Amino acid sequence: MDFGRRDLLLGSAALLLANSSAARAVPGRKLGYAIVGLGSYGLGVIIPQFVNCTHSRLAAVVSGDRAKATRVAAEHGLGAGAIYSYADFDRIRDNPDVDIVYVCLPNAMHAEFTIRAARAGKHVLCEKPMAVSVAECEAMIAACRAADRKLMIGYRCHFEAYNLEAVRLARSGAAGKIRYVRSEHGFVQHNPAAWRLKRALSGGGSLMDMGIYSLQAARYMTGEEPVAVTARESTDRRDPRFREVEDILDWTLEFPSGAIASCQSMYSAAQNHVLLMGDAGRIELEPATRYTGNHMWVGEDGREKAVTPPPGPRVTQFAGQLDHMSESVVAGREPIVSGEEGLRDMRIVEAIYRSVREGRTIRLG
Ligand code: NAD
Repeated sequence: MDFGRRDLLLGSAALLLANSSAARAVPGRKLGYAIVGLGSYGLGVIIPQFVNCTHSRLAAVVSGDRAKATRVAAEHGLGAGAIYSYADFDRIRDNPDVDIVYVCLPNAMHAEFTIRAARAGKHVLCEKPMAVSVAECEAMIAACRAADRKLMIGYRCHFEAYNLEAVRLARSGAAGKIRYVRSEHGFVQHNPAAWRLKRALSGGGSLMDMGIYSLQAARYMTGEEPVAVTARESTDRRDPRFREVEDILDWTLEFPSGAIASCQSMYSAAQNHVLLMGDAGRIELEPATRYTGNHMWVGEDGREKAVTPPPGPRVTQFAGQLDHMSESVVAGREPIVSGEEGLRDMRIVEAIYRSVREGRTIRLG
């Protein structure tokens, strides 16, 4: 990361006007994150990762639970001025210590908090799924663009060593011409009261949660954009967990090269698997996209050889993601998984649901 570039950026009058917090930044300063939503991901996974970051640090917390926020802030050496509620979140515009807002809320709240953050002059890292509709994704991109802020989606697998190595192997022809991808993600959702099962908060069922990994993997492993999708659903509507959202979705993506991806998401079985089959072999990951403990094999027609990513400066996928956003902000570059990438997925998600509803193949523009 070239922090020297920040001096150049600071020389820009336009940027000085547009970004008061960056203007007060000094070269080498770690960018400050506000974590919005102190749930299992924001608090349990992301906040502990700042110790592994080179360019990022925790600067504020946003929560509906004042006591929890006070405790978390104190544990990380933050004072009362670094604590916000959802209601007074917009005051964050006056906090020069916060450069980036990381939205770790239920899916249906992503658009609102991304747009409010952008209007407060902050860059945004938003969890997946980007939002619950194409229209929301477009509004988020527009808000960030209007405020001249960066928008990144929390697609952590783009920073995960096994997935990166699998993509490298696939592009280098290790499996030959890719003809077929299987990509399956699911877990058993036990709690009928979970927000993930409430449409108003989740926007949908397993597709909106684990299905995003299946869809993403199909796209980044092939490096292609699908031209058509055919989907079907299996949900036991008598099961109290699935009154509002789907359980199993099974969809096929057709790619311009002729490759096909067979993808699944589910809330009634555990699965975490990606398999690429080419005319010269296979690349397989299982588990494929977990936080830790992923595995990979290459082979002709099975798991003949276990592969580990090459040794190198290892940061966790989470720290890699956080620092990539900070680096993108400082360099004035688009993050590799920008809002447009989340929008691409949401267009396909809407086509998957439409294919189920209409019982036919949907062509993608
Ligand atoms: P969670 O239920 O553990 O946490 C959600 C947080 O939002 C809680 O702090 C909760 O209090 C708060 N909240 C505010 N308003 C709420 C409301 N009306 N209903 C429910 N909660 C409300 O959920 P999570 O697992 O942390 O997921 C949060 C987001 O992070 C989701 O969008 C999810 O898809 C994403 N996520 C991403 C990954 C990943 O690996 N990238 C992993 C887990 C979750």
